[in-house]
Amino acid sequence: MKYNINNKGYYGDFGGAYIPEMLYPNVEELRLNYLKVMQEPSFKEEFNQLLKDYVGRPSPLYFAKRLSKKYNTKIYLKREDLNHTGAHKINNTIGQILMAQRLGKKRIIAETGAGQHGVATATVCALMGMECIVYMGEIDIARQAPNVARMKMLGAKVVPALSGSKTLKDATNEAIRDWINNPVDTHYIIGSVVGPHPYPDMVARFQAVVSEEIQWQLQEKEGKSTPDYVIACVGGGSNAAGAYYHYLENTNVNLIAVEAAGKGVNSGESAATSALGKEGIIHGSKTLLMQTNDGQITEPYSISAGLDYPGVGPMHAHLFKTGRAEFVSVTDDQAMTAGLELCELEGIIPAIESSHALAVFGHKTFKPDDIVVLSLSGRGDKDLDTYINHFKL
Ligand SMILES: *Cc1c(COP(=O)(O)O)cnc(C)c1O
Repeated sequence: MKYNINNKGYYGDFGGAYIPEMLYPNVEELRLNYLKVMQEPSFKEEFNQLLKDYVGRPSPLYFAKRLSKKYNTKIYLKREDLNHTGAHKINNTIGQILMAQRLGKKRIIAETGAGQHGVATATVCALMGMECIVYMGEIDIARQAPNVARMKMLGAKVVPALSGSKTLKDATNEAIRDWINNPVDTHYIIGSVVGPHPYPDMVARFQAVVSEEIQWQLQEKEGKSTPDYVIACVGGGSNAAGAYYHYLENTNVNLIAVEAAGKGVNSGESAATSALGKEGIIHGSKTLLMQTNDGQITEPYSISAGLDYPGVGPMHAHLFKTGRAEFVSVTDDQAMTAGLELCELEGIIPAIESSHALAVFGHKTFKPDDIVVLSLSGRGDKDLDTYINHFKL
C-alpha cells in the first residue's frame, strides 16, 4: 500500500496524532476500536441500511451527454448532490454516529465553519436521539444564518466561539476543550479527512462507499470498473478521498485534485494549499498548510465556504508530494462560470465547491474515449445568494 495509510497512522511523511497529552485517552480509545467496530457485521448492516433508506444511496453515476459533447470526452457525474442534506458529508456523519453508539457515547460534539458539517452532524443526532453541541465561530454564526437555523431546528445547541478570529480554528479549539473535559461520554465528529489519526482513515473509509459504487456502476455502463480520470474538489479532502479510495493503488487511474485559488494563487486571498502550503501541524496531524515564515497559520479565502480551509488532509499531502494526484488551482471566477455552464448544459445547479472541480474541463484536454468521473460533491441550493450576487441574477 503505497498511497494508503500505514499501520502507524501515516501517509508517507504525513498524518500521525500530534495532540495534547490530555486528549490522548480519547483518541487512543477510538484508534484501538475503529477498525474492529467497522468490521462487525451488525455495524456494516446498519451503516448500509441507513445509507440506502435514509441517505438515498447508491447515488447515480450520470453520463453527462451535453457536457461530454462540449468537451469531446466521456464525462460521468457521481451525484453526491442527490444525497439527503445535499452533499457527501452525511456518509461520514452516519458512520461516526454509529461508531459513537458502539463505543457507548451519549453526547456528540462537532465544530463547523460554514455550517455544512454542523448540519450533517445535527441531522444524524436527531436521527439517533443524541445530544448535539456544535461549536461555531461568532463571526461564522452571523454569516451563516440559514445553517444555524437548520441546526437549531434539528435540535442542536450552537455554541459561539468568542476567542481569536472567531472562525473555524477557534471553534475547533473549543470543541477540543470540551472533549478533554468530557472524555468518557462524548464523541467528537470531525467532518473531513483531517485531524489526528485515526480520523483521516476512518472518514476516508466511510466515504469510500463513493468509489465502491463507481466501480460497479462503471462496470454496468462501460464494461469495465476503472475510469481514466477521477476529478474532485479538495477542502479537507473527504469527497476526493471517497472518490479515489478504491483506485489509490491503481496508477492507470489518474487522480485530479482541485483546490480553490480564490482571487488567484498569488493574490494573498486563496486556499490553494498544495501550491502555497508548507509542512506543519494543524488539527493534530502533520500535513501541508498555508503559513507565514514563522509558522502562523494564514487565514484562507475562497468564494466557496467548503474549500476555505488553510490545510489539507494528510492523504492529499502525500498524493501531492508523490505526484500520484495532479493538483489544479481554480479561481472564484473560473468556478462560478463552470457552475453556470453545468446549469445550462445539464439542468443541475452544483455547489460552488463542486463547480471548482467542473472548471478542470476548461483547463485541461481529455481524449475523446477517456472515461472521466467527476465527484459532484453537493447541490447549489445553499449557494444561491452567492450565484445571485456574482451573476447579478
Ligand atoms: C464541505 C464540502 C466540500 C469540502 O469538503 P471535503 O472534505 O474536501 O470534501 C466539498 N463540497 C461540498 C458540497 C461540501 O459541502
